[in-house]
Amino acid sequence: MIPFNIPAVTGKEYDYIQQAAKNGHLSGDGEFTKKCSKWFESNFGVEKVLLTTSCTHALEMAAILLDIQEGDEVIVPSYTFVSSANAFVLRGAKIVFIDIRPDTMNMDENLIEQAITEKTKAIVVVHYAGVSCDMNKIMDISKKYNLKVVEDAAQGVMSKYNQKYLGTIGHLGCYSFHETKNYNCGEGGALLINDPELVERAEIIREKGTDRSRFFRGQVDKYSWVDLGSSYLPSELNAAFLYAQLEEADTINNDRLRIWNKYNNDLAKLKEEGYIEFGNVPNDCTHNGHMFYIKVKDLKVRTSLLDYLKSNEVGAVFHYVPLHSAKAGKKYGRMSGEDKYTTLESERLIRLPLYFRMEDSHINEVVRLLFNFFE
Ligand SMILES: *Cc1c(COP(=O)(O)O)cnc(C)c1O
Repeated sequence: MIPFNIPAVTGKEYDYIQQAAKNGHLSGDGEFTKKCSKWFESNFGVEKVLLTTSCTHALEMAAILLDIQEGDEVIVPSYTFVSSANAFVLRGAKIVFIDIRPDTMNMDENLIEQAITEKTKAIVVVHYAGVSCDMNKIMDISKKYNLKVVEDAAQGVMSKYNQKYLGTIGHLGCYSFHETKNYNCGEGGALLINDPELVERAEIIREKGTDRSRFFRGQVDKYSWVDLGSSYLPSELNAAFLYAQLEEADTINNDRLRIWNKYNNDLAKLKEEGYIEFGNVPNDCTHNGHMFYIKVKDLKVRTSLLDYLKSNEVGAVFHYVPLHSAKAGKKYGRMSGEDKYTTLESERLIRLPLYFRMEDSHINEVVRLLFNFFE
C-alpha cells in the first residue's frame, strides 16, 4: 500500500512536547508558540505572525480584521478549498468567483478587474500547489481600486514569488499546518500580518475580543472585552510539535523537491507522448514541492486511472469540486464571467502520493503503474 499522505515527523517533536508539558504552560502563547512566530518573523521578514488553530481560522480572522460586512463582495477563485470562501460568507459577504488559468490552476489575474464592483472589499488569492499567483499584477489592481489582498497560502509555506515568501506579499497571509500540508502539527495555522496597522486588532480578535496581550505586556492594567473575537490560539503542544518541523524546514523542503523532481523526470516520456500534462511553474516562482499533479485527457480517463491506482493500492486523489457549482457556492456566491477552465481542468487532475521521506521504490512503483495504464 502506498498512501497518498503520511504526516511529516522529523525527530524532535516528542521531546518538545515533553518540554512544553514540563514548562507547566499548555495553553496558547507560551514558549513554543513564541518560538514559531519568531521563526517566521525573522526568516520570512514578516511584521507579525500569530499562530492559529487552523488556516480556516486564520482566514476567519482576516475577514473580521478587514471589517467584512453584510453585502460586501469578495473575489475568490472557484477552484479552491471551501474555507477560502466560507470564512468571508460567515461575515455576510457575497462571494464573486472567477475562473482559473489552466497552466497553474490559480486565479486568472486578467479576470479580476471585470469582477470588481462598488461593493468589492477584498481579493482572496490561492497559491495552488505552492505555486504563486501573479502577485505583481494582483497587488497593482488592489492599489488601483483600494482593495485588500488576503493570500490563502495554506499550500505555499516556503514558496517564493520574486524572492518574497508567499503569505508575506498581500495585506494578510494565511498558512495551514494540517497534517496534509508540508509543515504540520495535526491541525494548526498562522495569520501573517504584513500591514502594521492591523497588528493590534489581530491580537485582540485572536484573544476572544479582549486586550489580554496588551495586559501581559503591561500596557493596560486590566484586560476586558473590547472587540469582536474568538478562540483562535493553538495549544503549546501543537506549537511544540510544529517548532520541531520549522527547525528542519530546509530538510523537509529539499526532500519534497527531490520527490517532485523525480516524478517530473520519470514521467516526462508520458508527457512527451501526450498522455498526461504537468502543472506550470512560472519563471518568477520558486515552489515547495507541496503537490505533484498530472492532468489526463478527461473525466472518463481520470475515473479509470484512479480506479486502476486504487486497485493497485496506490492512494492517488482528485481535488476540489468547483465552488461556484457547489450547493453552498450557489447560495452564497456567483460566478463572474465564464467557467472556461475551472470545471474542465479540475475534472482531469490527479494528485500523486507525495510525503516527507517517501522512498524511491514507492515513487518508482507509482511511475510504473502510470506507464502500465497508458500502455
Ligand atoms: C488546506 C487548505 C485550507 C484549510 O486549512 P486548515 O488548516 O485545514 O483549515 C485552506 N485553503 C487551502 C487552499 C488549503 O489547501
